Amino acid sequence: MKTLSYDVVVIGAGGMGAAAAYHLAGDGRRVLLLEQFQVGHKQGSSHGGSRIIRHSHAEAAYASLAPAAFDLWRQLEAESGALLLVETGSLDFGPPNLPALIGRMETMAALGFPYEVLDQTEMKRRFPQFRLADDWVGFYQPGAGILAATRAVETMAAQAVRRGVTLQEESRVLAVTPEGDGVVVEVDGPHGRERIHAAQSVITAGPWAGIFLSQLGLTESLNLPLKVTHQQVAYFETIPDAQEMWNAARSPVYISLPMPHFYGFPIWERPGQIKVALELHGDVVDPDTHDRRVLPEAVDELSALVAEYLSGVIPKAVSAEACLYTQSPDQEFIIDRHPQHPQILFAAGFSGRGFKFTILTGRLLADLAATGAQDYSSPLWREIFRIDRLRSSSPVHADLLRM
Ligand SMILES: Cc1cc2nc3c(=O)[nH]c(=O)nc-3n(C[C@H](O)[C@H](O)[C@H](O)COP(=O)(O)OP(=O)(O)OC[C@H]3O[C@@H](n4cnc5c(N)ncnc54)[C@H](O)[C@@H]3O)c2cc1C
Repeated sequence: MKTLSYDVVVIGAGGMGAAAAYHLAGDGRRVLLLEQFQVGHKQGSSHGGSRIIRHSHAEAAYASLAPAAFDLWRQLEAESGALLLVETGSLDFGPPNLPALIGRMETMAALGFPYEVLDQTEMKRRFPQFRLADDWVGFYQPGAGILAATRAVETMAAQAVRRGVTLQEESRVLAVTPEGDGVVVEVDGPHGRERIHAAQSVITAGPWAGIFLSQLGLTESLNLPLKVTHQQVAYFETIPDAQEMWNAARSPVYISLPMPHFYGFPIWERPGQIKVALELHGDVVDPDTHDRRVLPEAVDELSALVAEYLSGVIPKAVSAEACLYTQSPDQEFIIDRHPQHPQILFAAGFSGRGFKFTILTGRLLADLAATGAQDYSSPLWREIFRIDRLRSSSPVHADLLRM
């Protein structure tokens, strides 16, 4: 057993952990970033060519964080030279009386973010690639767009290393234990088993976070089972005549708000193909044993939705991929310290809307590590991120996932 010493050990190099390491190192901390697989792997939640970034969340707590997230992404692009964010605009659609749509409009109006409501005539004129019911409306937001997900994680990790972070892949953390004011991290990696001593640790383990919450006594004391579910995305060919209207230079990202909840992207990741995804509410899965096999019934449902709602697309999936969501009981993010061991920080429960905020969450974790407490005078902290909010809540995972 070897002994090493760091200021902060970050556990998990998905979007959240790569961002945390990047900001911690920027603050001058000595950081070890441990990843059980390789950065950019496909077993967790942050892989793939695209994620939606937008201001339009129904909850002002999240919508109002969007400008800071956009700024941090643009800074990372400038620093790294990588293309990470492409603005396409975003189109949400559904019946005009749908609470999810009204909530988005009210929040965007209250925060002064620009948007347009498009009736059928305008929808058909501007976005003929969508075939919607006559009484539905489109809710268009300029400025929204696509984040290149895997590339963004790899870029944050690479910039973290450039800032001095030690990245160790193929290293599975077995336990994080408080020891005095610091922590001991037990890891099984290329050098065998090691016990690493550090002042603090940041647990950003995505679908595996529940293992650590349980080890550290939080699952029962805070009523905090995390729910991990399989999600399905699929790729569809567009017909040659439709490729111009589906191009990312002309076509927005889109979210269909009524159930079944689906969303998608223009042609961007792969020539001539669009990616469409369906939110699934299936069984809880174990990230260590789940086989991540494509679910044919979900792909069939997606193909049927493509046939019904999208024009110029061949409604037969050409390929499909799985991804995992991790939900907290109330579906809000958890970004906090351990209530009894403040040297251990967590970020978990980002369900279907965390990616755009990874770079910002990394900033919040680095601030928390530096100051030891949430600074609510900062415009970026939210009471709803506190872990102890869950003490009195009952673990009901709402059916409607939050994108
Ligand atoms: C299909 C799908 C679509 C989505 N669409 C959007 C979208 O459009 N917009 C948006 O904003 N968000 C979206 N999200 C949500 C977003 O992608 C996630 O919230 C975010 O990627 C979560 O990142 P994470 O770092 O918490 O988890 P992960 O990326 O899973 O990272 C956790 C990391 O920890 C590592 N790890 C775990 N345990 C250990 C251990 N013991 N030792 C070492 N390493 C460990 C894992 O291997 C993994 O690399 C989507 C998610 C999915 C699945």
